[in-house]
Amino acid sequence: MRLKYLELTGFKSFAKKTKFDFNSPITAVVGPNGSGKSNVAEACRWALGEQSLKSLRGKRGEDLIFNGGGAGHHLNRANVSVAFNNTGRSFDIDYDEVVLARTVYRDGTNEYAINGSQVRLKDILELLANVSLGSTGHHIISQGEADRILNSSLSERREMIEEAL
Ligand code: ATP
Repeated sequence: MRLKYLELTGFKSFAKKTKFDFNSPITAVVGPNGSGKSNVAEACRWALGEQSLKSLRGKRGEDLIFNGGGAGHHLNRANVSVAFNNTGRSFDIDYDEVVLARTVYRDGTNEYAINGSQVRLKDILELLANVSLGSTGHHIISQGEADRILNSSLSERREMIEEAL
């Protein structure tokens, strides 16, 4: 199972639809400070069902929506889609591609979809849990987290390793 692409529309600094195709085993996103690199990783975690706005550096759902600036007027919703290659049927869904999408509106309402069909958050979390993926797993190491791991106590570190395993 491989990550195929990530598409952001109106998410944080990404006002216009932006698609990242992950065609090779390793992809590096580079750019100057403040250009939105962390926003890309956060978008991915958010689409996987992250519920902690604090960990996404926001207070309310609308903090995730493009709020205006050089690239245009503020928008009313943010949408992120994460697509996985499912030719190996890792996900128990009979499609070669599985696209998880999440949308948030300014009133804080969230919508989730799997391959274009609206679902509940629970459905997304269950689908991901079955392949040991999730927003709170150790698949996405955010900025500062490596330090946290290095500075943690032995028992905390053990807990993290056990969780990852
Ligand atoms: P660094 O290299 O310093 O860690 P970075 O490339 O990871 O930076 P991010 O932290 O991802 O950059 O992006 C920060 C930028 O995103 C800031 O310019 C901030 O103004 C912008 N940003 C965050 N939320 C929004 C929003 N809701 N609307 C518009 N821009 C936003």
